[in-house]
Amino acid sequence: MPDADDSERRAQAVCPICGKPTETRWRPFCSKRCADVDLHRWLSGGYVIPAAEEAGEDAGENAGDERDADTERG
Ligand SMILES: [Zn+2]
Repeated sequence: MPDADDSERRAQAVCPICGKPTETRWRPFCSKRCADVDLHRWLSGGYVIPAAEEAGEDAGENAGDERDADTERG
């Protein structure tokens, strides 16, 4: 009983954009269109990664502010 069919099915990935089976040529997408959609998301800032450096500096300043606020409240 050949169960190659089953394993092939499991290996089949789907396009993260539209959910269709991926095409080897456009992996991990199903077509150029979906690849383009993903690219556009990147370019338009859909996947923005916050700048860790800036956040660190801000945190330092905020720490001082918080102290002041605490004394006032107390
Ligand atoms: Zn797709």
